[in-house]
Amino acid sequence: MAQAVSTIAPEDKQLIWHNLDISQAIARLQSDAETGLSSATAKQLLADLGANELTAKKGKPWWWKFLLQFNQPLLIILLCAGFVKAITGSLVNAGVIWGVTTTNAIIGFIQESKAESAIAALAKAITTEATVIRDGQKLRIPSRELVPGDIVLLTSGDKVPADLRLIQVRNLQIDESALTGESVAVEKDTRVLNLHAALAERKNMAYAGGFVTFGQGTGIVVATGNATETGRISQLMQQHIDISTPLTRKFDKFSQNWLYMVLGLASLCFVVGLSFRGFQEALEAAIALIVSAIPEGLPAVVTVTLAIGVSRMARRHAIIRKLPAVETLGSATVICSDKTGTLTENQMTVQAIYAGGHQYTVSGLGYVPMGEILIDDKPVNLDSEKGLQECLLAGLLCNDSHLEKKDDKWVVMGDPTEGALIASANKAGFSQDNLAKQMPKLDGIPFESEFQYMATLHATPKGKTIYVKGSVEAILQRCNLMLNNDGQLRPLDCVETLRQTTIEREVNIMARQGLRVLALAKKPVSEQKNTVDHPDIATGLIFLGLQGMIDPPRESAIRAVQACQSAGIQVKMITGDHAVTAQAIARRLGINKNGSVLAFTGAELTQMDKTELAQVAEEGVVFARVAPEQKLRLVEALQSKGEVVAMTGDGVNDAPALKQADIGIAMGGAGTEVAKEASDMLLTDDNFASIEAAVEEGRAVYKNLLKAICFILPVNGGESMTILISTLFARDLPILSLQILWLNMLNSITMTVPLAFEPKAQNIMQQQPRRPNEPLLSGSRIKRILAISLFNWIVIFGVFEYIRQITGNVDLARTMAINALIAGRIFFLLSISQLIPNLIAKMNGTIKENVNIPAIGFGIIGAIILQIIFAHVPLINEVFSTAPLSLQQWLFCLAVGSPMIIWATIVNRFDPLN
Ligand code: ADP
Ligand code: MG
Repeated sequence: MAQAVSTIAPEDKQLIWHNLDISQAIARLQSDAETGLSSATAKQLLADLGANELTAKKGKPWWWKFLLQFNQPLLIILLCAGFVKAITGSLVNAGVIWGVTTTNAIIGFIQESKAESAIAALAKAITTEATVIRDGQKLRIPSRELVPGDIVLLTSGDKVPADLRLIQVRNLQIDESALTGESVAVEKDTRVLNLHAALAERKNMAYAGGFVTFGQGTGIVVATGNATETGRISQLMQQHIDISTPLTRKFDKFSQNWLYMVLGLASLCFVVGLSFRGFQEALEAAIALIVSAIPEGLPAVVTVTLAIGVSRMARRHAIIRKLPAVETLGSATVICSDKTGTLTENQMTVQAIYAGGHQYTVSGLGYVPMGEILIDDKPVNLDSEKGLQECLLAGLLCNDSHLEKKDDKWVVMGDPTEGALIASANKAGFSQDNLAKQMPKLDGIPFESEFQYMATLHATPKGKTIYVKGSVEAILQRCNLMLNNDGQLRPLDCVETLRQTTIEREVNIMARQGLRVLALAKKPVSEQKNTVDHPDIATGLIFLGLQGMIDPPRESAIRAVQACQSAGIQVKMITGDHAVTAQAIARRLGINKNGSVLAFTGAELTQMDKTELAQVAEEGVVFARVAPEQKLRLVEALQSKGEVVAMTGDGVNDAPALKQADIGIAMGGAGTEVAKEASDMLLTDDNFASIEAAVEEGRAVYKNLLKAICFILPVNGGESMTILISTLFARDLPILSLQILWLNMLNSITMTVPLAFEPKAQNIMQQQPRRPNEPLLSGSRIKRILAISLFNWIVIFGVFEYIRQITGNVDLARTMAINALIAGRIFFLLSISQLIPNLIAKMNGTIKENVNIPAIGFGIIGAIILQIIFAHVPLINEVFSTAPLSLQQWLFCLAVGSPMIIWATIVNRFDPLN
């Protein structure tokens, strides 16, 4: 079989297919339009030709990425400083500067690679699937398993999985902008084309990477993987994972400005130093200032914190596709969610039927074919209820799904709405398989949210008939007759009570119980008819009845809605369903705004101008019968009110709204490829609760970033104050530049990285959302950093001056000053960490989960061990000019650092970090 493919010369491969007629193309690939390839052949071809995926061009080699670590102004300055030291004779000093810088780069490199590969692995975990025909069976397979010759079915929302020669189309439109740059979707057909037709004009082809925006089609795979047109282009592109976000970019900008300031101050130090002392000392002071003022550990901590946020979210079923979403999630103020499947179970069961003028109830739950159709609580005699019969039959025939028993459980393969209709018909004794034989389906229009109906054409013993089902509004306006229980037709609804027809009243009764209502209808057509299209069912339908199905709210969604609302996040329900149904479900879920559940319909929204819409978007909580295009308007309206909007979507037409939303959320299960591609985040379980979880994690990430910043900066602050003041007053430096390097690059990392692993505060969802434009360093935050810096300065300066005074040993004084600083730092860490509050909560029994001591605990132990090495290893004493401490001196350092806990507690009160 493989030869069939390889006999085509390479240049043919790109030219030939659109120029062949369908049967030639199929023959050439030794396939079959009806039965497809056999699975054995497909397996063989897959082994021969490789998977249908693009082999990413190799990224930058690791050593290049490592070198890039040095591409930071600070590190470059340090390397230069080392160079100056080297030529002025202190080779050891130069070696230490280079050594510490390299260690820092290695740590940064490892952490960034880890973060990158974790994020890349997540992106890979998202697989796309394709519908193929193999061995005469329709099945879903991962797109990577496609081989040339496979027959692929396309429907709107699909991503074209490989290059296809189309063999059948039905209003098929494909967006090929990725390939051709043409932004308007192309209408496809199957006619043979001129050999020289340009790529964009090959209407009988569908190319990998395109999106089906409308209609359906069938095609035969002609090229896979790198052999596809996209494959040829994308070899020019680099597969690149960007780990920058608005926040990291803000950081970069901030550090740049910061650097200029520091360089200015350092020059000042140099000049002042030069006027008081020699060149060496002046240089030492300048370098010490640069090293002390720049937060070296920060970039790595930011990356790690974001990466940990991403993996925590993934564990809670939210997969981040675009890293900035991690931050945005934390400031979300509105979540607009789909109802069906996200807020509800998507487990539908028909509970009420209205047909032939009678009301029926249906017993049983789920898709199990157990239960009965009852009238006035008594089992119904089906033979005498012709209307009911036809209504059930219509539900079963106009249906693309089926029920299956899997491990003793009945599950629906396809749409749960349709599953419910099969189950209700089964309860009356109709079998889908038998019916498919008696009344074979000839053609159909599949369901699309936009039209709110679907139709199928059947050859029945009584002649050809179209069956239609859909929303009440869509169906009723097309009907002029209805079927009575004795099988007679009569004009639709002459009875009108209080300006409401009987049918509308019945719909309202069902909707108020939260039932999703479907209307069913049919239309006999002439025997010549073999296809069905929208105009065929525009008028003249016979109304057969209503089926009302329950779709219970998800338990987890009820809790999540509660959590969001107490976190100051509005929840809005957006649905294609009936307003009254949606309102009933919203009440059960507890979705409201100031206690009321205002509902608006898509039709009402269309009438409104921008300002009115913005008002309504704020006030309303249920938006029903909303067409996908209106979702975009809603997002824009909410954003115009300053809201940060998260919006869910699954269909093709949801893509613009998903892109516009601050956080576009696609359904991993039910979503189309188009929606997934447009989204920032994917839900693997399609559950609203996972959105809430992601918001929670997003908030935690931000808090942890803040903590890291507030932890790192005051040390830099304290150190630079020390250097600056001591230089300006012509005193000995209480800490030397090498010691600062040790402190900032090695010791800092052990204590800051654990902050990225901090568990979230218990009350994180009781706070209001962060203002999206809130600066990283607000006024109160700058004050907090200055306050802690001041403490650090007092410790360093005080201990140094005091110890030197009483011992006369400068090295010892410096070592003790640094150790006292570290002691204070440990107390500060404990004051901002969740560790102690969590331990207390655990003891009181308010939290169940285990309190994660290790991260912070190891960090503190690591920091202490480093300081013991710093003071007691002779080689280090030599290199870093330190001296060993006695036990009393250690305790002295601890005592001097301990008031930090009081000072920090006061500061935390004014500027809470949890
Ligand atoms: P949602 O997903 O928000 O519940 P949909 O757009 O799926 O809304 O459905 C809108 C309306 O279309 C439903 O209220 C129902 O009346 C009708 N409908 C839903 N699914 C089907 C289907 N498979 N066939 C026919 N009509 C349907
Ligand atoms: Mg739906």
